[in-house]
Amino acid sequence: MSRQKYLIGNWKMNNTIAKTEQFLLNFEKQLNTSKTTVVIAPSFVSLSSASKVLKSDRVKLGAQNIAWEDSGAFTGEISGEMLKECKVTFCIVGHSERRQYFGESDETVNKRIKACLRQGINPVLCVGETLYERQHNMTNQTIKRQLQGAFDSIASQQAEKCIVAYEPVWAIGTGMSANEAQAGQVAGQIRDCLSVLYPSLYGQEIGQKICILYGGSANTKNASLFLNCADIDGLLVGGASLFVDDFLQLAHICESV
Ligand code: PEP
Repeated sequence: MSRQKYLIGNWKMNNTIAKTEQFLLNFEKQLNTSKTTVVIAPSFVSLSSASKVLKSDRVKLGAQNIAWEDSGAFTGEISGEMLKECKVTFCIVGHSERRQYFGESDETVNKRIKACLRQGINPVLCVGETLYERQHNMTNQTIKRQLQGAFDSIASQQAEKCIVAYEPVWAIGTGMSANEAQAGQVAGQIRDCLSVLYPSLYGQEIGQKICILYGGSANTKNASLFLNCADIDGLLVGGASLFVDDFLQLAHICESV
């Protein structure tokens, strides 16, 4: 995958099936993008009907998680094959809410990325430091640890199918976004780390190829600041993706920057 613009909406545990259908009908009708890949990740239960409501390829479907096993006795889990059946082409992996509330670790993130790649689903790997880590100058080491864990024993040809979202935990859902200097600096660090992780085949190349997004209280007012950063290719948006007008405007901003 080469670098391109992305706008990804993470709906978390919001919107029923009916509301999802209503949103998508309305949103797809008005969306006018040519260079931004727009992805919406509704709840698992909405994916099937969402895949039927969408009429074109302009809005792609994402999942918010994936089981690391392909099938079997894993109560409550959703496999990659099931996601594929719902036309899911992207999957958020390692979101901080999953790390914080559901015991997600660097190891399970790695297994989920591998499950995505087995199914041809593009993983959207979330990395980011907590407020404590930022205040104690631990941001770099946290990001490095998360990247090393996530990409462990993943070949470079596979790694380049991943998107990495820099999501400072303290900025998610708080209304307190990072500033563009902070976001740009960590995005650059992510590129550097990936180039170190994958030196032999690609050298700098993989770090330059991979798409890096910013997420954390991104909205229509601050979006262009992030999108203007050299190392940021798009946005992962929670709250502002729940409103048709805001998400359309964000898509428009992505197109114009
Ligand atoms: C998210 O959940 O990935 C996110 C970025 O949320 P918000 O935009 O609401 O901060």
